[in-house]
Amino acid sequence: MQNPFYYYRTRKLTSGTSSAIAEYKKKVLHKRISFIEVACPNCHRNYARTLYKVERHGIPWQTVLCRYCGMMYSNPQMDEESTKHFYESDLYRRLHNQGQALSTSQLVNRYRRPNNIFNFVSKAKIEYQTVAEIGSAGGWNLKAFQNDGKSVTGYELSEQLVEMANNFFHVPTKQAAVLGSPYDLVILSHVLEHFGDPVFELKWLAENDCEYLYIQVPGLLHNIPSIQNAHNHYFSLANLVSIIGQSGYQIVTHGFINNDIQLLAKLTMRRLAPIAMPSEYERVMKLVRKHRLSMFRGLFHDIFRF
Ligand SMILES: [Zn+2]
Repeated sequence: MQNPFYYYRTRKLTSGTSSAIAEYKKKVLHKRISFIEVACPNCHRNYARTLYKVERHGIPWQTVLCRYCGMMYSNPQMDEESTKHFYESDLYRRLHNQGQALSTSQLVNRYRRPNNIFNFVSKAKIEYQTVAEIGSAGGWNLKAFQNDGKSVTGYELSEQLVEMANNFFHVPTKQAAVLGSPYDLVILSHVLEHFGDPVFELKWLAENDCEYLYIQVPGLLHNIPSIQNAHNHYFSLANLVSIIGQSGYQIVTHGFINNDIQLLAKLTMRRLAPIAMPSEYERVMKLVRKHRLSMFRGLFHDIFRF
């Protein structure tokens, strides 16, 4: 029985998800997946309160809120080696895709969707020629850039997706997470929330002369986003401004799409100090209290099976 105070309603599990969860738990038991304690990724302090002790599948997973700057993050997190294994082995996709790796028809559907990244970048009217995407999956985000005559390269850890991107959709893709050379534009769509240390990773891109970054993340906006063990960070616009400023970039333009934040940042190489946001902590706590109330209702239903 979960502690009701930290209760988080679990998703309905399919048999595929259940077997992926069992595999994940086995890997944790045998230390193939291990964890490390981390400080706040924004202000780098250890001054956080616990919000949730499980994630959406019911897997033990602690989510905390920094009392100093209002950054919501997971602590502990998988260590670097475990994270790599989690994505390379496709355990991540099976866990978060009803127990399946992506099917060909799902991949084809992704290609047919309108490309909001290309549209957003085009509106900013920037000069660029080379584009890389970290976590490029089947290459569907890069296809519109490739069709526009840009030189594109995908970086993806999943062997299945690398194979699909290269051989089926003809988007050049490497099985790696680290860029081999500088690019004019680097796309990080639904990637930053998976990183261990976002400031460290973005600094690396700055030091390697990547001039523009396109970043899209699930936003901590008007609701608490889905808590999952693949996500290490939950970003508000305020936290993103601070993290990007510390890395040597500056936001050029931003927008919101569904519950995501999307933005374009330009290299400045001026590293700013973290921004303290005392009001952000209270804002997030209000969302947590509201969310907790709906979770209590869920718990009540679970117990009495209405
Ligand atoms: Zn903090």
